[in-house]
Amino acid sequence: MVIFIHFLIFALVSNSTPLKIFTTKAEIAAYLLQKRSAGKTIGLVPTMGALHNGHISLLAQAKAATDVVVCSIFVNPTQFNDPKDLERYPRPIESDIKKLISAGCDVLFNPPVNEVYDDNEPAWHLDIGPLENILEGKFRPGHYQGVTQVVFKLFDIIKPDMAFFGQKDYQQVLVISRMVELLNMPVKMVMCPIVREPGGLAMSSRNVHLSAGEKQQALALSQLLQMVKDNFATHTLPELKQLAADFMSHQPEIKMEYFELADGDTLQPATAETEKIVALIAAWAGKTRLIDNMIVR
Ligand code: AMP
Repeated sequence: MVIFIHFLIFALVSNSTPLKIFTTKAEIAAYLLQKRSAGKTIGLVPTMGALHNGHISLLAQAKAATDVVVCSIFVNPTQFNDPKDLERYPRPIESDIKKLISAGCDVLFNPPVNEVYDDNEPAWHLDIGPLENILEGKFRPGHYQGVTQVVFKLFDIIKPDMAFFGQKDYQQVLVISRMVELLNMPVKMVMCPIVREPGGLAMSSRNVHLSAGEKQQALALSQLLQMVKDNFATHTLPELKQLAADFMSHQPEIKMEYFELADGDTLQPATAETEKIVALIAAWAGKTRLIDNMIVR
């Protein structure tokens, strides 16, 4: 019944708007082949849906740089290390479709899980080096194997000229860039700036789970990053880490998983000589895990 209703919405929407909606690999590949043969460039914005202005900014950047903008919405089971997180991930497909239409997106790819994964598919492993097991990788074992697996499949089906990812998931951009480099994939990666709520909280699909109080507490993440950035020129790295620890000690409701000042290219801990430094944080507000980062040098 639910599938039927979705199908009906797809049918209605796809007849009345320029947004083309595909749920199968074969159909979207055939459609994009025509576009490519007509000399059009293709931009891909991979998402898990529950679209917000962060996603919309990626679509706008894709629209400015390529002829045909494809948004994929797929809640990828292989990148969730916590089954409860997968289960409660928001999936408001009808309102997402409306947002894609007003953003001027050309194509939505919204496949079911069995269109992306075969039952007997062999386990995937791509050696992406140390990036796999540090920071997010350490706290979410297996996450980046799931991410590379699904993005490999999306790139293979859609064959985008350019793919747009948010700086919000900084480590993810490095991981996928490494995959593109290792596998010689003909796609240009574009990292887009983080879009924030007026108070500074980085937009995220998971923010819908935050109560009003937790949303207030969650401001501590961006405040901490901004404080580190503001003090960067006048403090050493150990002093900045101490400032961060002192700041977080006044935020008892926020449970921090990590705060790191890292090399922007490798995410190894930064030293005084590191040229590009990014401050990264992951923390829990209630039952919701949040991540954020800021380039501080
Ligand atoms: P998600 O749906 O959370 O998997 O995110 C899909 C894409 O949107 C990823 O490339 C994210 O990094 C990006 N993204 C998510 N939140 C933001 C944000 N607040 N600002 C910019 N990009 C974002």
